[in-house]
Amino acid sequence: MSIPARTRQEWQALDAQHNLHPFTTFKEIVDKGSRIINRADGVYIYDVDGNRILDGMSGLWCVNIGYGREELVQAAARQMRELPFYNQFFQCSHPPAIELARQLTEITQPHINHVFFTGSGSESNDTVLRMVWRYWSVLGQPERRIVISRKNGYHGSTLGGASLGGFGVVHEQFFGPIPNIVHIGQPYWYGEGADQDPAAFGLARARELEAKILELGPDKVAAFIGEPVQGAGGVIVPPETYWPEIQRICDKYGILLITDEVICGFGRLGSWFGADHYGVKPDLMPIAKGLTSGYIPLGGVLVGDRVAGVLKRDDDEFFHGFTYSGHPVACAVAAENLRILREEKIVEHVRDTAAPYFAERMSELAEHPLVGEVRTRGLMGAIELVRNKATRERFPAEANAAMTCREHCFRNGLVMRAVAQSMIVAPPLVITRAEIDELVDKARRCLDLTARDLGVH
Ligand code: PMP
Repeated sequence: MSIPARTRQEWQALDAQHNLHPFTTFKEIVDKGSRIINRADGVYIYDVDGNRILDGMSGLWCVNIGYGREELVQAAARQMRELPFYNQFFQCSHPPAIELARQLTEITQPHINHVFFTGSGSESNDTVLRMVWRYWSVLGQPERRIVISRKNGYHGSTLGGASLGGFGVVHEQFFGPIPNIVHIGQPYWYGEGADQDPAAFGLARARELEAKILELGPDKVAAFIGEPVQGAGGVIVPPETYWPEIQRICDKYGILLITDEVICGFGRLGSWFGADHYGVKPDLMPIAKGLTSGYIPLGGVLVGDRVAGVLKRDDDEFFHGFTYSGHPVACAVAAENLRILREEKIVEHVRDTAAPYFAERMSELAEHPLVGEVRTRGLMGAIELVRNKATRERFPAEANAAMTCREHCFRNGLVMRAVAQSMIVAPPLVITRAEIDELVDKARRCLDLTARDLGVH
């Protein structure tokens, strides 16, 4: 092996010296040292000290089939021997990309029959923007260029992806968002619904889309994009009324509907895609993560017939694409990942077994003195931390409630992520009932430890 054996301290020192991490306060790495993870199996990761940690976040929402699947290793090795790289530019193609494209359209809704491959979720969302703008130009309506997205949505870190994302602090760092992207409110009932009935709140938030279209002028609006369930924003599960109303409004004004399936795709909600779960019919679906279960980078945009039909009659070249669009090794791994998801009926396992049990066990945590709400959808969940359950009063920011809980989780063998004042989880889809028990028991213990630190009884 070309990677030498080193102690944790040696890895941490080298890491602090040479490696700049994503979404990190660089200074903190120097002060605290990073956690060094060096192997994984099933739903568990292991650090260099040999601690076993239940990965409640599937890496970064991506290791859907769990760690350690030798079949994916073999698929990559076979493809590397046969054709490690070739591109899809200049009228070239190769069997792994063609076959994967075919297989993807077997699991999508009938009107989705094309895919444009990328290397990541962010590249997929940049591709979405480029396609949306091209689509309306080819149709002779280039003034239709505003894409409506949502506050607290996450769509990636490229300039396009980060602009679609709805985080003001992120925009500030690059003087964004880029032009032609505007944001409306999110369907976050617990945080923003106050005393409204969830169904009414869901409708009200969806109708912000209609109000925005009318304000901007319907002939200026190109598309709406949203995650079926917002992930990085804190597992925001929309009220049931939300998505049907969004669909109605998109249809009424003829604007394209985009569901960002980077997290929800490939079984997370107990359906192949989040759009299927909520019964909507998207024109475009950016995908990544679970497409390869994170074993190798690959993304794409699933393209419905409405858009593909127009792009395919464009006389001009589509000036867009990446060296690694449809990388053959990544496509071969994705095809093997799809085989496993299908043959082992993992999506059905989520829908019929894992998600109902996860919902039942997670809901028990709502009784904890620190917890204001527990919500789950499929195998995604959020635990809202509050100082006062009745008033939903939060802890002051300096109390670092969620970060305190996150630290306890790591020390007690569980990965949960902290988002603002909530803890979020999204375990591998292959998680068993016994492992869900372990996850919930550890979460409760870490909530107890956090309550003790915050002086809540
Ligand atoms: N869209 C969504 C919904 C995501 O959650 C993410 C990543 N967390 C992205 C896009 C960006 O994907 P990537 O990090 O692969 O660029």
